[in-house]
Amino acid sequence: MDKIQMKTPLVEMDGDEMTRIIWKMIKDELLLPFIDLKTVYFDLGLPERERTKDQVTIDSAKANIEYGVAVKCATITPNRQRVEEYNLSEMWKSPNGTIRAMLDGTVFRAPILIDSIRPVVRNWKKPITIARHAYGDVYKATEYRVPGPGKAELLFTGEDGTSFRQTVYDFECPGVLQSQFNKDSSIRSFAHACFRFAIDTRQDLWFATKDTISKQYDQTFKLIFEEIYEKDYRAKFEELGITYFYTLIDDAVARVIRSEGGYIWACKNYDGDVMSDMVSTAFGSLAMMTSVLVSPDGKFEYEAAHGTVTRHYYRYLKGEETSTNPMATIYAWSGALRKRGELDGLSDLVRFADLLERACIDTLDAGIMTRDLVGLVSEGYTVTPVNTRQFIAAVRERLAAVLSA
Ligand code: NAP
Ligand code: MG
Repeated sequence: MDKIQMKTPLVEMDGDEMTRIIWKMIKDELLLPFIDLKTVYFDLGLPERERTKDQVTIDSAKANIEYGVAVKCATITPNRQRVEEYNLSEMWKSPNGTIRAMLDGTVFRAPILIDSIRPVVRNWKKPITIARHAYGDVYKATEYRVPGPGKAELLFTGEDGTSFRQTVYDFECPGVLQSQFNKDSSIRSFAHACFRFAIDTRQDLWFATKDTISKQYDQTFKLIFEEIYEKDYRAKFEELGITYFYTLIDDAVARVIRSEGGYIWACKNYDGDVMSDMVSTAFGSLAMMTSVLVSPDGKFEYEAAHGTVTRHYYRYLKGEETSTNPMATIYAWSGALRKRGELDGLSDLVRFADLLERACIDTLDAGIMTRDLVGLVSEGYTVTPVNTRQFIAAVRERLAAVLSA
C-alpha cells in the first residue's frame, strides 16, 4: 500500500511524561505506517524548555503562525515542586498560556461520545462544545496581598496625560487586591472565532457573562458580541437555521443542564476553564475531550484537554502496566491532519483522519477500552479492559483493515 502524501508539514509540539510516551506510540503505530508524515518538530518537554530558557515554546508558536496547523502533546506547567524535581532555573510559564497569547486564540473543547457511555446528565444526547476565550482576565491579573490599613485605588493614565482615579476600597485591615483587564481587539477576535466555528459546524451559539453585576467589563463582552453578530453573521445564521443568543451565566448553567446538547457555549476565560471540566466529566472523562485553539486569522493548534497524567507515568517508570487513555491525543493528531488535508486539498489525508477516528470509535464500541472508561460503561455492555499499547494495537488492526479495503 502506498503511503498517504502530505504537502505542508504539521507543526509538532512534543511534551512530557505519560503523554510523551503515548505520543510516540501513536506516531509509530497509527501514523508512520500509513502516512508519509511531514512535521516541523519542537520538543516542549520540560528539560528542553529549561535548556533553551523556554525559547523553544516561543519558536514553536511562531512556527504555528507560519505553517498554520499544529498538534501539541500535553506539557508540564511547572510549580514549586516541579522546579525541584527538574532542577529548573526558573518557574517557566505554561506553554499553553504562551501559545494562546501569541495566537490570540479561542479554545474549542468538545467531548467524544460513544454509545456505551451515557452522560451523567441523562438528557444530553449531543456534544456540548465549550468555546473558551483564552486571553486576559484573571489569567493576566495583577494581584497582591494588602499588608494593612490603607487606600487601594485604580489609576489609568492616558497617552495624552489625562487620567482617571477611583477608590477600590479603604482598607481598615489586611486583605487582598486584584486588577484584571481585557482588550476590545481580543474580545472581537473571540467573537469572530465563535461565530465562524458555529457556521463551520452548523451549531447554535450561546454566550453568557454576568453583565448585570459587571456593568462595564462583562457588558463590553456582551455588546461586542451583539454588534459583530448583527453586522457580520446574522444573515448567514438565518440562512443556516442556527441561532445566537446571549444570557446570564447562571441562567446558561441551568439551561445547559436541561438541554439536549448540540451547541457551542462561549465562555469568558475563567468560566471556560471551569465549565469545560464540568462538561467533560459529566460526558464521561477528560480523556474523551478534544481541544483546538483557533486564532482569528485561521491558525489551528490541536491538543488533548488533559494533562501529562503524572501518576501513570511514575507507575510506567517502575515498569508497571499503565492503562492510560490515548483517545484525546489520537484525536489531536486526527484533527490536525484533517485540517491540514482540508487546507491543502488532500482528500486522502482527510479520509485518513476520518478513518482513524472511526477505528477508535469501533474499538471502543467493541468494548475494548482503557481502565478509566470501564467504570463509566452502562449496564448491558461487555467490556475488555486493556492497557494503552493493546488499545492502540486494536485501533491499528481496524485502521489497517479499512485502509487496505
Ligand atoms: P492530568 O494529567 O489530567 O491527570 C489527572 C488524573 O486524571 C490522572 O491521574 C488520571 O486519574 C486521570 N486522567 C487524565 N488523563 C487521563 C487519560 N488520558 N487516561 C486515563 N486517565 C487520565 O492532570 P494532573 O495530574 O493534575 O497534571 C499533571 C501535569 O499535567 C501537571 O504538571 C500539569 O501542569 C500538566 N497539565 C498540562 C495540561 C496541558 O498541557 N494541556 C493540562 C492540564 C495539566 P487516575 O490517576 O485516577 O487514573
Ligand atoms: Mg481547567
